[in-house]
Amino acid sequence: MKLNELLAYQKADIELKRLQRGIDKSEQSKEVYFHKREFAAAKKMLADTEAMADEIVARYSETLSAFEDSYKRVEKLSKELDGETDEAREGEILAMLESLHARLGELERRIFDLKKRSEKALAEFSEAQKRGKYHKEAFGKAKEAYDKYAAGFAPQLESLKKEIETLRKAVDKESLAVYDALSEEKILPAFVPLTEVDKSYVCSGCGMQLAGAARADLDQNGCCRCESCRRMIFKK
Ligand SMILES: [Zn+2]
Repeated sequence: MKLNELLAYQKADIELKRLQRGIDKSEQSKEVYFHKREFAAAKKMLADTEAMADEIVARYSETLSAFEDSYKRVEKLSKELDGETDEAREGEILAMLESLHARLGELERRIFDLKKRSEKALAEFSEAQKRGKYHKEAFGKAKEAYDKYAAGFAPQLESLKKEIETLRKAVDKESLAVYDALSEEKILPAFVPLTEVDKSYVCSGCGMQLAGAARADLDQNGCCRCESCRRMIFKK
């Protein structure tokens, strides 16, 4: 194991990750994501209210034509009642008119309710439109500010990446494989020095004391795997 080369690589790699994380978690980056999320929420609300409005319009026109039908029947029956009718027919017509009036009242209430609902949907729709427009613009501005901010780090990132590329070539394949696997799981630093407390061996990555097998391994090979955090522990 080429320990020094690996440690140099690890140091540069962690530095790059730290820098990248700082950029990703910056206020500028948070601002971009905030407006992106809010814009998506407004877009969803727009689609939802649109679907709702479509449904209301369909029900409104259905109810309206039912109202018109009933109204026409009322007119027709009223005309018949004005003409010459026998008593039996008159009684029949009056009963029908009564039930038609009740139906008209019910339909009128429904139309009123649908009108109120459509006004509400319209208000929500225009609110979502306003919000969407605001966040789209704010996103554009935030993105511009973020790009400018991130560009300030570009030279540093570039040179660090180049350095890492060179350092990586000097590390043996076996150590690299172990490093990459631990790095993938965000267990960094992946290679840590042994800490000796009194006569016991302690992993400086997680603070756990090493068991007999790991300890023997370390004494024999100069490095071992921590059984607790799985980092590689080396003797300085
Ligand atoms: Zn450990």
